Amino acid sequence: MAKIKMTTPIVEMDGDEMTRILWKMIKDHLLKPYIELNTEYYDLGLERRNETDDQVTIDSANATKKYKVAVKCATITPNAARMTEYNLKEMWKSPNGTIRAILDGTVFRAPIVVKGIEPYVRNWKKPITIARHAYGDVYKASEMKIPKAGKAELVYTAEDGSETRELIHDFEGAGIIQGMHNINDSIESFARSCFNYALDIKQDLWFASKDTISKKYDHTFKDIFQEIFDAEYKEKFEKAGIVYFYTLIDDAVARVMKSEGGYIWACKNYDGDVMSDMVSSAFGSLAMMTSVLVSPDGYYEYEAAHGTVQRHYYKHLKGEETSTNSVATIFAWTGALRKRGELDGNQELMEFAGRLEKATVDTIESGEMTKDLALITSIKNPTVLNSEEFIKAIAKRL
Ligand code: NAP
Ligand code: MG
Repeated sequence: MAKIKMTTPIVEMDGDEMTRILWKMIKDHLLKPYIELNTEYYDLGLERRNETDDQVTIDSANATKKYKVAVKCATITPNAARMTEYNLKEMWKSPNGTIRAILDGTVFRAPIVVKGIEPYVRNWKKPITIARHAYGDVYKASEMKIPKAGKAELVYTAEDGSETRELIHDFEGAGIIQGMHNINDSIESFARSCFNYALDIKQDLWFASKDTISKKYDHTFKDIFQEIFDAEYKEKFEKAGIVYFYTLIDDAVARVMKSEGGYIWACKNYDGDVMSDMVSSAFGSLAMMTSVLVSPDGYYEYEAAHGTVQRHYYKHLKGEETSTNSVATIFAWTGALRKRGELDGNQELMEFAGRLEKATVDTIESGEMTKDLALITSIKNPTVLNSEEFIKAIAKRL
């Protein structure tokens, strides 16, 4: 059989620990036998980031601007323990943060739904994709403890020196205050990424905030979304047969619980942080969650939502068997290959992505899975495979 050709490369961002081991197995068993894999390779493993003073991360993000599609393996975000473990020159920033800052994107997280791994919410039949606005609000807030009676105000000083003030509270005793902000540009990018992605995957888009209480702050989010929708996306949505729907955050939460899924839920920064953990655990497993960074300029970076699975890697290093779930990493690859195919008009590549996803889902649904899934599946007597056996079982079906 002739291998599938790729005209344009995908940016390949290799990573760390157990996911780096899975990365190679996926390429060797599931991709290279079928595709003349055309990637521009960047090693984002921590050692290489340290050697290059993290330049390799920046280069990989810039390459994504050039080729538009990237696939990323999970990477270590250094902390104090990693400083010693890897003898680092500096506590390098999170690669995901660096890449997101360069591409200015929104992260969409979606569960991979398979029969036998039932969501805890019975009526959820289709995936719910969470889009989290990753800038500002409480994550870039200034806070103050108020020790005793006194007046707290918001003060804005314009460039010409003129001041606008708003009373926060006249304190009679001790208390606390917080000042947070957001930027119209960032909200606009967020809105465009959401509208574009909804058109991409042909699903409805929901957005919610607390505009009834926060009449200026949250209301601005609502207004920006609506203005951009009306001006740029209304007709495209009608053509695609999808809907943009705004509601109050409380109402959204209630509707989500009663829905059957199958839409994108755009969330403000804090809501997205909290709700993505709720949605992913309700769908069963972090190892079955994919993540894609979509920039308003149309760049895509696909990855698994989980980390490097450090505990399994240490077992692997001791020569012990591991049963690490590679599904989300496989779907990161299929997401990137399908998008590459779409952009290049490469039908074969798109079809291959579909076949690999189907082979992966079928393997689990036929009862062959890794340990994390075997613990939660409703399938009777599942066969627990180790990391490599699972990938080989998929290859066999493929
Ligand atoms: P993690 O790698 O997601 O793993 C946490 C635990 O979840 C694992 O110990 C394992 O539980 C389970 N798990 C996660 N993925 C799994 C999989 N594919 N198969 C089976 N079980 C899986 O999170 P972490 O241990 O907190 O972080 C490890 C490293 O990853 C850190 O250095 C962190 O900085 C990095 N990280 C990177 C990213 C990213 O690159 N996007 C995201 C998050 C974290 P059991 O041990 O109970 O089996
Ligand atoms: Mg969180």
